[in-house]
Amino acid sequence: MKLAVLKETDAGERRVAASPETVKRFAGWDAEISIEAGAGAPSGMPDADFEAAGATIAPSRAAAVGGADIILAVRAPDPASLSGAEAGAILAAILNPFQAGDTLSGYANAGLTAMAMDFMPRITRAQSMDVLSSQANLAGYRAVLDAAHEYGRGFPMMMTAAGTVSAAKLFVMGVGVAGLQAIATGRRLGAQVSATDVRAATREQIESLGAKAIFVKDVEGIEGEGTGGYASEMSEEYKAAQAKLVSDHIARQDIVITTALIPGRPAPRLISDAQLASMKPGSVIVDLAAPQGGNVEGCVPGETVRKHGVTLMAPTNINASLAEVSSQLYARNLWNFLSAFWDGDAKSLVWPDDDDIVRGVTVVKDGKVSNERLNA
Ligand code: NAD
Repeated sequence: MKLAVLKETDAGERRVAASPETVKRFAGWDAEISIEAGAGAPSGMPDADFEAAGATIAPSRAAAVGGADIILAVRAPDPASLSGAEAGAILAAILNPFQAGDTLSGYANAGLTAMAMDFMPRITRAQSMDVLSSQANLAGYRAVLDAAHEYGRGFPMMMTAAGTVSAAKLFVMGVGVAGLQAIATGRRLGAQVSATDVRAATREQIESLGAKAIFVKDVEGIEGEGTGGYASEMSEEYKAAQAKLVSDHIARQDIVITTALIPGRPAPRLISDAQLASMKPGSVIVDLAAPQGGNVEGCVPGETVRKHGVTLMAPTNINASLAEVSSQLYARNLWNFLSAFWDGDAKSLVWPDDDDIVRGVTVVKDGKVSNERLNA
């Protein structure tokens, strides 16, 4: 059994798909672990630490992937860069399958099996393998810190001898994993927090974190958790009611964190230019949906812009700014995933076709791009 770990090549990507801790665990399988030289350096994990954990350092990608059974990466690698891999090798990475048609075809043509960690089913058994959750949790935390850094005032109410400073008002739009952590972080910093979502199930979660739930009234949202826990595109009536709700609320906010996503669709537009303009000068918005086009009109993915006196941040890879911990958790997700399918007696990985997790993540197999979510 040989595992290869790639050095990421996308601009700004600092994470790595293994840590010395997971390498040690894989070494317990008597596996050969080959790390592409320098793979961990941007996240503070030098080659020497991987070597000490039991890995060998490969001088090139070709040397790393040659003869590998499993190739681990954070982002989808260029299929051409994997030409040295043998047919049948498994690639596990965050593949962004809805937008990566050509890349997936490239893996299919190379005879690779590709498993998209971002298609991990949101089921209890897969919680420890859920890369969207591990990364979104850190993203929600960091978004609030970045906003606090940009915001020219403090977060908590302060009663000082020189006078009283009121608490910052923070509004979170989209209360999935990132949104919940943004609420918790904002509360810890002393902000007065409110939050909204289309899924009725989030109301209780918002309130249990001590924030105020702001919900559209008298128009049906998504009762319960929705399909697979995800949101879907809302009706025009809902969108109009939501726009009114936001208009009434947003002018009083100092910080807004938006996280709303709909799988396989562009991010829903939640804040118009006019609504942004109604905010006080000096307010800050962090749009975590920027990689999918953004929730805020005028956001420029990857950049921070100032509009109507409001700072609009649109990070496209906020986890790269917490590269070490993001890598450690991602690496643990991969270990939890692979070890669930490890047969210790046969000393090999076994992938039952009828397993929910295997079916959920497999996007390329037997020379074909195929997955129920892509075919839907
Ligand atoms: P996500 O990143 O897909 O979306 C973020 C949030 O935006 C969601 O809460 C969504 O409802 C909301 N949203 C979408 N459109 C919106 C709109 N127009 N206005 C306001 N909000 C909008 O979400 P996620 O963090 O990936 O979580 C998705 C689901 O998975 C949730 O139900 C979550 O509880 C569930 N989950 C389950 C597990 C598990 O059981 N293993 C683990 C993590 C998350």
